[in-house]
Amino acid sequence: MKTYIVGNWKMNFTVGESSLYLHKLLAKVHAARGLEVVVAPSTMALQTLSLQTDRRKIKLGAQNFYHQDFGAYTGEVSIAQIRSLVDYAIVGHSERRYVFRETDKDIKLKVAAAIRGGLTPILCVGETESERTFGETADVLRDQVLGGLMDVAKEDLTKVIIAYEPVWAISGHGSVKVATPLDVKEALTLIRKTLYETYGKKALEVPILFGGSVKSLNAESYLSIPGCNGLLIGGASLIAPEFLDIIEIAKRVKNERE
Ligand code: PEP
Repeated sequence: MKTYIVGNWKMNFTVGESSLYLHKLLAKVHAARGLEVVVAPSTMALQTLSLQTDRRKIKLGAQNFYHQDFGAYTGEVSIAQIRSLVDYAIVGHSERRYVFRETDKDIKLKVAAAIRGGLTPILCVGETESERTFGETADVLRDQVLGGLMDVAKEDLTKVIIAYEPVWAISGHGSVKVATPLDVKEALTLIRKTLYETYGKKALEVPILFGGSVKSLNAESYLSIPGCNGLLIGGASLIAPEFLDIIEIAKRVKNERE
């Protein structure tokens, strides 16, 4: 299975800054077999960056979209409008769930729309701090995984990537907590088991990533977890030396594994 390094730039960088930053990354990133590097800039920058990027080195992802293709949905952008610009689409990110109040229903519609439009959805799931404290992690992960995939046909399961992102460990939320590799291993195992129980062997082909305060200093500890197929990175993806180091670490860990 491929290793995925995905940078979520969130609401950072103007179009010009995004373009300069991508230019810097492209100069340093070399295509490597089995390694997929993706960045998700603001929707505004997608057009410019899609013309600029070398997709063998860095592919683009959307941070958000609406599930309908066209229509009276003021302020929204559809998969039909961005599908020629990106290969991936992040869905169910905790900021969408908790700041913008997206529900499991919104999320399942988006996952299905992305697949329909030929994009790979990166479905984010993860428990909040209080859910963890109350011992609800397993239930939350199960509900979010199965809820998000509810409208996905069994044969399309392998078109989905899942990212485990414990909300309490995401640095942008002011968190000072960092998930240990053991925390992550337990959650990844739970997610894989949930998929296996529902979809059988196909579950083994679904990439599962980890995200939450990943930096060059801790990237190896997460990438070395069996069953961890890559990383979703927020803050550190905005800093070129950090992001580039993480890509190099991913290459090394992958080579050592094979
Ligand atoms: C994220 O928001 O998806 C994320 C993982 O952020 P950070 O790496 O900044 O914790």
